[in-house]
Amino acid sequence: MLDLRHYTTNLHVIGSRRVPIIGSRGCPYNCSYCVSPKLWHRKVRWRSPSNIADEMEYVIKTTGINQFHFWDDNLFLRKDHLVALAEEILKRDLQVKWLGLTRASHIVMQKDILPLLSRAGLIGMEIGIESANPDAYNIVGKNETLDNLIEACELQKSNGMFPMYTYMSYLPGDTIRDAYKQAQFMDRLLKGLPRYKYFHHLPFDIYIGQCCTPHVGTKLHDEAPSLGMPLGRDEEDFHHSSTCFLPQSLLNDIPIKNEYRLLTDDRVFCVIVSYGTIADYLRYDPPFLKVKNVSALNVLLDRYCNAIDGKKNLLEIVKSLHNEDHQCLAFNDMLKFCAAFTITLGQYGVLDSAYYQDKDNKISRKKIHCSKSLIYRTALTTSRIIGKLLGLKDFSFTRHLSYET
Ligand code: SF4
Repeated sequence: MLDLRHYTTNLHVIGSRRVPIIGSRGCPYNCSYCVSPKLWHRKVRWRSPSNIADEMEYVIKTTGINQFHFWDDNLFLRKDHLVALAEEILKRDLQVKWLGLTRASHIVMQKDILPLLSRAGLIGMEIGIESANPDAYNIVGKNETLDNLIEACELQKSNGMFPMYTYMSYLPGDTIRDAYKQAQFMDRLLKGLPRYKYFHHLPFDIYIGQCCTPHVGTKLHDEAPSLGMPLGRDEEDFHHSSTCFLPQSLLNDIPIKNEYRLLTDDRVFCVIVSYGTIADYLRYDPPFLKVKNVSALNVLLDRYCNAIDGKKNLLEIVKSLHNEDHQCLAFNDMLKFCAAFTITLGQYGVLDSAYYQDKDNKISRKKIHCSKSLIYRTALTTSRIIGKLLGLKDFSFTRHLSYET
């Protein structure tokens, strides 16, 4: 009875329609940002492999779609279950393609069955790396190691699979330098792999992923006021695709400029990332407002970069900017935009944490390839020129109804 157009999107990596499916509920881990421990009390319930295969068969017969995305919290928890599912798929000759989510440590634990899973149509697993900062793992109870992540990546590659990753911005414990380290780590994991058209939502290799979100009911929600600033106005705002929390580790970090002049591409990246992580405002703005807001963002970006003096931390800089002239921007929105500029520029070495300046491990700018660079540069430069000519520096957003209701 459901209209499947609303439930099918492209399967990661290979494209063509996928149908969501759930083989188990729950996860025994206790990551503080995750709703699973709250929903399922760290207990796991499994459907039988034959029951899952029945559903696959039914979907194929009724819709013609043979690609499945398992939405289990942790698909790789039980080896016997996975083996039985793969054997069921092969026995029925379902010819399916599928993927799911798990932890790196579980891929390492189940490495001996990866060839079987690959034969049964597993195209790769999505792993939450969140951060490349072990301190952040400790704070959020992630209980994972970078060595596991590297091994899980190599194991998938050597079995002809496509490792995929989810990662977070604004995790407690992460600083500007950690944004850079995270990008370096992601580069390492993705080395030698094609750019997945159906996975990366940004047209350049800046890894923003999901914004750390203190979902209501989670441990992180209780801890958020002591770990940083929750910025959502109400529960609706706590959504992982918009900035709704900034950690003390970033707010207290003192940005340092490694470069004194911003390139056009720097502006492009900052504008796209900051819009994307602040509730997708731009998508709903009519054309003139887009021009106006891009122009205003450029003004804010210049003001922010000019205010970086190597002494004030991020929060202090934004307070001083907001006191001077708010560009019709609420303090929290200004803070979110400046945080987005900071981690964007931090990811490829234009900004760094002051903490590291005395140490002998300075970083340099990394070249970022942008596939639609010419289009973005032209749009941005045009908006800046029009903005300058018309004196546009104030923001005015159109918030989409779904963000308000
Ligand atoms: S984030 Fe993943 S591993 Fe951690 S509790 Fe949630 S489902 Fe389990």
